[in-house]
Amino acid sequence: MASYRVPYSVLCKTFELCENTTKRLEITEYLVSLFVQVIELTPEGLVELLYMCINKLCPDYEGLELGIGESLLMKAIAQSTGRDMKQLKLDYTKCGDLGTVAKNSKSSQRTLFKPKALTVPHVFSTLKDVAQITGQSAQSRKIDKIKGLLVACQENEAKYLIRQLEGKLRIGLAEQTVLSALATSVVLTKDSGKLSKQQKEHDLAIAADTVKSVYNQMPCYDMLVPALLKYPLNQLQEKCTMRPGIPLKPMLAHPTKSLTDVLDRFEGHTFTCEFKYDGERAQIHRLPDGSTMIYSRNSENMSVRYPDVMQKLNKWLKPTTTSFILDCEAVAWDREQKCILPFQVLSTRKRKDVKEEDIKVQVAIFAFDCLYLNGEPLLRKPLQYRREKLREAFTETENEFFYARHMDSNNIEDIQTFLDVSITSNCEGLMVKSYDGEEASYEPSKRSRNWLKVKKDYLGGVGDSMDLVVIGAFYGRGKRTSVYGAFLLACYDPDTEEYQTICKLGTGFSEENLQQLHDSLKDHIIEKPKRFYCLGENPVKPDVWFEPVQVWEVKCADLSVSPRYMAAVGQVDPSKGISLRFPRFIRIRDDKEPEDATSSEQVGSVSF
Ligand code: AMP
Repeated sequence: MASYRVPYSVLCKTFELCENTTKRLEITEYLVSLFVQVIELTPEGLVELLYMCINKLCPDYEGLELGIGESLLMKAIAQSTGRDMKQLKLDYTKCGDLGTVAKNSKSSQRTLFKPKALTVPHVFSTLKDVAQITGQSAQSRKIDKIKGLLVACQENEAKYLIRQLEGKLRIGLAEQTVLSALATSVVLTKDSGKLSKQQKEHDLAIAADTVKSVYNQMPCYDMLVPALLKYPLNQLQEKCTMRPGIPLKPMLAHPTKSLTDVLDRFEGHTFTCEFKYDGERAQIHRLPDGSTMIYSRNSENMSVRYPDVMQKLNKWLKPTTTSFILDCEAVAWDREQKCILPFQVLSTRKRKDVKEEDIKVQVAIFAFDCLYLNGEPLLRKPLQYRREKLREAFTETENEFFYARHMDSNNIEDIQTFLDVSITSNCEGLMVKSYDGEEASYEPSKRSRNWLKVKKDYLGGVGDSMDLVVIGAFYGRGKRTSVYGAFLLACYDPDTEEYQTICKLGTGFSEENLQQLHDSLKDHIIEKPKRFYCLGENPVKPDVWFEPVQVWEVKCADLSVSPRYMAAVGQVDPSKGISLRFPRFIRIRDDKEPEDATSSEQVGSVSF
């Protein structure tokens, strides 16, 4: 008997249910009921199903992504439904969602035969094929594959298929929700039904924590899911351990407003201060077979961007060092003056097709943590121990590799002096970290209070700068008539997958900046705001709207609650959001995707 394959229609029905509610509990329940069915009927199909739910094709570090352009998708829709492109474009302008346009175009079409129903494995493998097509006539081969799926779509399937191809499902399925639902489903399918309600709730909470924590160390469903189905939950940590070659989600730091805040937080605890280097985070992995990878803070493989680092790395290792995961910052470096160069210099380095002989901007690596060494995971060890291991395993090498500078004192004057030295050394400020005991462990993916960041220029101000997405612009006046004069910015809510407006920004730009921003943004103009832009009832209306493509670092003097901006709406007021006062442009954050922008929760947690 052929094995059971989950119909695509079943998945799309679940998507529809999730899209029609904003309640996280309900969304989780819909997912759980789908996952439980799949675990019972066809457990080997669970991994693909999960990838479809988070709309990915593989782990982030493998780098295969969807994100097919609108014009290509429109061609595929036109060709498979026989509709006119002009009409399609009009429909799209009216409704703003290409998925819905595809679905409506299909339902106005008559077909003689009912096509064979799509299945999740078939759609998944075709999506993978589409993403992998390159080279000659890639466009038309992609269109053919997409058409093949579109003609077989029934009911609401075309809507979700197109959105999957666009790379944005936008139905409120955050990855954390999918992980909770996965944990719950596994507990429910293993449960004999004899547990008390209280016991069950307890088991479910532990299961969700375990699954999330293992996933943060090993963000790979292909390994996590089989282990989860095979072993009891309490063995998952040991069966599914971190290893070089699989990037962990990096630990993040909390902003602070003053050194006194730092001392208050760490009173009675041991802590250490490190320079906060201003470059690009790099997680360097070495496998026992000698292969090396460098990953970005988003777990992208950026080994090809740093051929110079890859080549020099062996010099920095002690002979006993065979495998490791290192957490570091790659910083632009002046070899003659032997000093750090500002971030702006690093950002001029090429990001693609980097050849070692053409590199003009040199980098030095500043290592601040060692997460794995010679077969031993170190996450649960305190920083003090990890730092010792780091020093045991590597050798500082002039112009190339250094340990992050640190100072261990709890005297506020000493810390102030160290902060000043960091700034004069072209660093951003300090990272202050728990040093000893359980709270000094490494917490992947957490913005933890065990790491605090102190930046000189926000002492006394609002705290940190924010990384915001530009979603609209206002035409310039006077000297600025040929470019945009101001912009509308938004933060991101990963739970609802929405961009929430936060401020209008018109200061901090040089003329050169404005020209460059105009040139890079004009190709991303859209006719209407996206469905997933949260603008409020009385919104600020820019002259043009953009796709969410660029992230900017922005500083501000203060925050206020406003009926016209929607950042963190619901957190400080049921219908008003937070807006920035006197915002100022600092720089483009090329290293961040729009989804990595400052989250609504972070905006809401800045104290007033
Ligand atoms: P932020 O991007 O402002 O949240 O600051 C956190 C970033 O600072 C990390 O992702 C690292 O890239 C960077 N960083 C620089 N120096 C250090 C350090 N000593 N420890 C940890 N992170 C550091």
